[in-house]
Amino acid sequence: MTKAITISEVGPRDGLQNTKIFMPTDAKKRWIAALAAAGLREIEVCSFVNPKLIPQFADAAEIAAFAMTLPNIQVVALVPNLKGAERAAETGVHKISLPISASEAHSKSNVRKTVDEQVDELKRIVALRDALPAGRKMEVNGGISTAFGCTLQGEVPQADVLRLVERIAAAGADTISIADTVGYANPKQVREMFVEARRIAGPKLDAAHFHNTRGLGLANCMAALEAGVTALDSSMAGLGGCPYAPGASGNVITEDLVFMLEAMGYSTGVDFDKLIAARRILEEALPGAEFHGHLAKAGLPKGFKEAA
Ligand code: ZN
Repeated sequence: MTKAITISEVGPRDGLQNTKIFMPTDAKKRWIAALAAAGLREIEVCSFVNPKLIPQFADAAEIAAFAMTLPNIQVVALVPNLKGAERAAETGVHKISLPISASEAHSKSNVRKTVDEQVDELKRIVALRDALPAGRKMEVNGGISTAFGCTLQGEVPQADVLRLVERIAAAGADTISIADTVGYANPKQVREMFVEARRIAGPKLDAAHFHNTRGLGLANCMAALEAGVTALDSSMAGLGGCPYAPGASGNVITEDLVFMLEAMGYSTGVDFDKLIAARRILEEALPGAEFHGHLAKAGLPKGFKEAA
């Protein structure tokens, strides 16, 4: 039986937050529409961060509202705080994700709060979710960042991450994800972390987010899948990186991840030709940016068949 894996395309958020060029709003819309048309089931379309801090997201509300008009996708937005969550809620997005660092140093750099303060912010966001009108659903994800190490703090003990999993679950998050923000993780560490974390949070802990900074992105995705994860974040052309974590670089490359999964018989829903067409839109809109990806260069093997 073919197992379905959700690939959450984070390029429009993680990918664009670290690029120097502002991607024009119209190009963002065309790109997101092309990503949806390629069959991606979930897209993180923007961040409701203060645009004074990251001008790339000055058009977040317009982008989120546009994405909500596209069929068959789960629209996700990153929110750094309650204010961002309120702005996101106005656009009707299906899901918001609040980053909560396992590293105190990264927490202060990224959201200017201690870890404890950010957990309190999550509780306020859960209250906002619960106060939405009947029939209006907005899932809240708690995303644990710098879970495998931090360029500011150095080592991040597994016990700190697991304690955070417990606190995020207790705070009422619908889902929890774990992220290797700076590309420090290895597959052994990933397998152990996700097995232990799922022992605490169960199937609520369903998603993993890796950066390919040291070339282990795909291997780490496999380790997370083996531990029971069913959703993986990745970014088209491997763009990405946290501007508040020095040395952070691109995400796992969507095109290569789709190829690996489909070749192994997992179903991603993605059509390769349409995925490459979406990449062309991105390349044209961001002249001079660094685009990665093996599949995009080499093409599919002769006679390759996608999973059902
Ligand atoms: Zn990231």
